[in-house]
Amino acid sequence: MDRLVKIIAPRNAIDFVFKALVFLFVISLMNWARDFGKAGADHNGFMYNLRDAAIVGTPFILLSLALVGHLARLQAKLLRLATTDMLTNLPNRRAFLDDIAGGDQLRARGALLMIDLDHFKRINDSYGHQVGDICLQAAADFLREHVTSHMFCARLGGEEFGIFVPGDAPNGAALAGRLANGLQVDLPQTGLIEMTMSIGMTEGDAGQGLGVVMARADRALYVAKAQGRAQVATWSPQIERQPFPKAG
Ligand code: GH3
Ligand code: MG
Ligand code: MG
Repeated sequence: MDRLVKIIAPRNAIDFVFKALVFLFVISLMNWARDFGKAGADHNGFMYNLRDAAIVGTPFILLSLALVGHLARLQAKLLRLATTDMLTNLPNRRAFLDDIAGGDQLRARGALLMIDLDHFKRINDSYGHQVGDICLQAAADFLREHVTSHMFCARLGGEEFGIFVPGDAPNGAALAGRLANGLQVDLPQTGLIEMTMSIGMTEGDAGQGLGVVMARADRALYVAKAQGRAQVATWSPQIERQPFPKAG
């Protein structure tokens, strides 16, 4: 059904006129075929049928295309709402997972960065939730500035963000290094607020289980926290063998 709506919904005026003409042409052709079956060949029959179909069909075409267009716009809006984080306007967790994985498997080789803002609760506690929201938006803008169009960046929830960098691992490591220093937010009501971030990074191969890759990045993130924050930790089998570190 989605596919059908996509095909018949008007996207612009030219598309609309073209589809209406195709519709009228098809109806006329069907009428002509019916008349042909009844009365044999009639050279003028098709044009008469086209005129009749245009007179009768145009209001219905206009109404149904307007309706379908409205539904298509509504559907696009719902899809955007379901996949976008409203505070930061970044894709949300669902969109992120859909982008980087098909089913439960990574679509491409690349580096997964799991990013968590350090001591974010202090900002809320010191300046209030509203300032916290502004800081989250600033952090999202900061990430946006650093990612390129072939990467996927999303707010995974709370003060956690994810970035997938397709390709070689060094690209992901270079990006993580640039991000870990964090950012400053200068607001009239608070003065300068410094925000750092801890990043857990892991590499994944196309076809690898998404759950495994996410769990590894998360594990590395805990290590980055435990080692003092404002830094990147990369997953390795050694990390996995360590007792689960306590974030202090
Ligand atoms: P850590 O360095 O260990 O990550 O410390 P933290 O304070 O960042 O972590 P913690 O999990 O203790 O606190 C996360 C805070 O993020 C608590 C929660 O209120 C805040 N937070 C989550 N989502 C939002 C939001 O949408 N807006 C605001 N203002 N705060 C949020
Ligand atoms: Mg967190
Ligand atoms: Mg945090």
